[in-house]
Amino acid sequence: MEGGAEMLQQPVALSVRSLVEYAYASGSIEPGFRSASAMAEGTRIHQKIQQQYKEGDRKEVYLKTEILHNELVFLVDGRCDGLLVSETGSFIVEEIKSTVSPLDEIGEGREVHWAQALMYAYMISLEEKLSAIEVRLTYVRRGGEEARSLQRTATLKELSSFAAETVARYAPYAELMLQHTERRDVSLRQLAFPFAVYRKGQRHMAGAVYQSVSEGVSLFVQAPTGIGKTMSTLFPVLKAMGEGRAKGLFYLTAKTVTRLAAEEALALLVAGGLTLHAVTLTAKERACFKGEEGPCTADYCPYTDGYYDRINAAILDILAEETLMSREIIARYARKHQVCPFEFSLDIAYACDAVICDYNYIYDPRISLKRLPEERKRGLVLLVDEAHNLVDRGREMFSASLEKAPFLSLQRRYKVHNGNLAHAAKAVNRFFIALRKSCGEEGERHWNEYPAELPSLLETFAVEAEQELIQASFIAASADNEEEGSLLDTYYAVQAMLRTFKLYDERYITYAEVRRGDVYLKLFNLDPSKLLRQMSKSFLSRILFSATLSPLSYYRDMIGAEEEDYSLSVPSPFEKEQWKVSVLPVSTRYRDREASLQPLSEALHEMVSRQGNYLVFFPSYLYLQNVYEVFADRHPEVPVLVQGTGMSEQEREAFLAAFRPDNPDTLLGFAVMGGIFSEGVDLPGDRLNGVMVVGVGLPQLGFERNLLRRYFSDEGKNGFDYAYVYPGMSKVLQAGGRLIRSEQDTGIIVLADDRFLQQPYYSLLPEEWRTTF
Ligand code: SF4
Repeated sequence: MEGGAEMLQQPVALSVRSLVEYAYASGSIEPGFRSASAMAEGTRIHQKIQQQYKEGDRKEVYLKTEILHNELVFLVDGRCDGLLVSETGSFIVEEIKSTVSPLDEIGEGREVHWAQALMYAYMISLEEKLSAIEVRLTYVRRGGEEARSLQRTATLKELSSFAAETVARYAPYAELMLQHTERRDVSLRQLAFPFAVYRKGQRHMAGAVYQSVSEGVSLFVQAPTGIGKTMSTLFPVLKAMGEGRAKGLFYLTAKTVTRLAAEEALALLVAGGLTLHAVTLTAKERACFKGEEGPCTADYCPYTDGYYDRINAAILDILAEETLMSREIIARYARKHQVCPFEFSLDIAYACDAVICDYNYIYDPRISLKRLPEERKRGLVLLVDEAHNLVDRGREMFSASLEKAPFLSLQRRYKVHNGNLAHAAKAVNRFFIALRKSCGEEGERHWNEYPAELPSLLETFAVEAEQELIQASFIAASADNEEEGSLLDTYYAVQAMLRTFKLYDERYITYAEVRRGDVYLKLFNLDPSKLLRQMSKSFLSRILFSATLSPLSYYRDMIGAEEEDYSLSVPSPFEKEQWKVSVLPVSTRYRDREASLQPLSEALHEMVSRQGNYLVFFPSYLYLQNVYEVFADRHPEVPVLVQGTGMSEQEREAFLAAFRPDNPDTLLGFAVMGGIFSEGVDLPGDRLNGVMVVGVGLPQLGFERNLLRRYFSDEGKNGFDYAYVYPGMSKVLQAGGRLIRSEQDTGIIVLADDRFLQQPYYSLLPEEWRTTF
């Protein structure tokens, strides 16, 4: 421990790595392909060097110290790679770094790497009471075996002034954050619920959320639409933060509309006096200033060129001036400081109290926020909105696929100027040729294991592709070179599959299909529960909520609940008189669809005979189109709107804006179940007077769904329900849930399918719907 000054401030705890990266990072952002496999390779390289240590040498040595700066106390800790004893008995502290550059281009080493080594040297010198120490920085070339060490001697005096200089660079940021924390905590303690009264069930839900966070367990909440779920979850977590029971939150959503609802709820609380740093993360391709994502290289994009030279000033500026940092605000500051808006938003996220983002920043192994320390996670609450989406999103995130065609084209393209890459692509292409043969007449096959020879073929390909990608020629040419873009895409797909091999277990199946002349291979995650649990296990608490977590036992099973996690089913806050639900007993099964067009058209006409705004949801675009044609032909006088495929944001907004509360005519909107208008859309009051849901929402019968069905049946569960019925009924409930959004809303729901009167569909309907027919 250094010095003896009195502790006047809350100590600032941080790792050596965070400290030096803030204080000494400089230059541009490394292209994604450099960092994609860097971590795994880095670990391997570290271990390889450490295996050469002699007896008495130590590796991964934990160190910590206190450093004072004015009124600040820094508690710094970390693990140095090696602490060696030289032949003369003196200490050598070693820091190991992997690099893609040739070793003779390393020069004197990077400042930030030296800074890390010197900080450890300082901490060891204090601990061992040394007046001087040897500091070694060892670089190892990735993909090769060579290493190069740089070494210097540092005295305690030099190291002390270095440590003081380092924390001085960090101090403005630390001071800003301490002042913010103080203001935030006062505001959290004084925070009042922003509405005059709680809705029925809302207090109960908020109480359960608070209790779960306080106990550090997770909670699965099935809560009807209209209860105000966003505020029922945000408010109690913020109160828990004010009492020191939690340190921050992530509000995770699957859709943009629910992201907006979270932003609005926080804005309301801020208007009521809350001080909070909150950021919304926007997907890279939407945030990018260059129109479309990448290539994010210094030659092409000025916002990445020298990013680290400007980022600290940008962070200090935005955190000092703003509280709720939406996409627009991030963009404004990113332009001001000339930094990439996407990377900037990620850097801010690590400093914020609340982060609003897609599920994948926490759950997807390809995208997740890697720099979130375990220690910080333990204080964070995950609020997972519309959590029913997590089952299929989880499957998607943990699965990986490849096709043959790109390897054949890469083999041809690189034949002349990169023989090694062409050879690696050829080996993968050959594998696919054999795979196609093995698919035989049926054109498909599946196995419980992945092909044993594939990982090494793909690893070789990844190493060669990476070497090609880092060539300066690629970086300079890539701005307008689509061919190189496809190497990058294939490289990323290969990396995803290599990662998935490591996750692969009995919850996966591998299948191959011959499609339109190409061969497709997929490692398909059947049951995402284990990985969903694993990816979120370090967090303090998970609150998973949706109007359609029904049946709860299925969602607990699929999302990976622990036994001690709570469940809550909140009854509807609305009176049953607000709904009039009826069943139209028509068959919407595939074989009967043609015969159903006429009856559905007439039932729609009857529904809209009372002036108002209506929506009808179909299980597919084709079915929608067929009914629409019959309806428009017979009832051309009824104004209709039809959901199109791939609608732009403006088109979506125009579609919804047409549902006006004061609409003098009748309006009927044709939409697709599970699409953009069937979830998260709010049309309160007279903006929506009736909804028809056509069919029970079953996913299309298909190869993957049948694999799921078989897997869950083999597990002793009801495979058909797991693969088809539950996901389908979730869509039905979401679509019907658009109707009643407040105590003042009334309206009709027509459930168009005879199966709604049968089990299991009938019992999966909300009680308040069932009691009305
Ligand atoms: S602004 Fe766009 S191209 Fe530039 S670094 Fe960011 S994401 Fe990449």
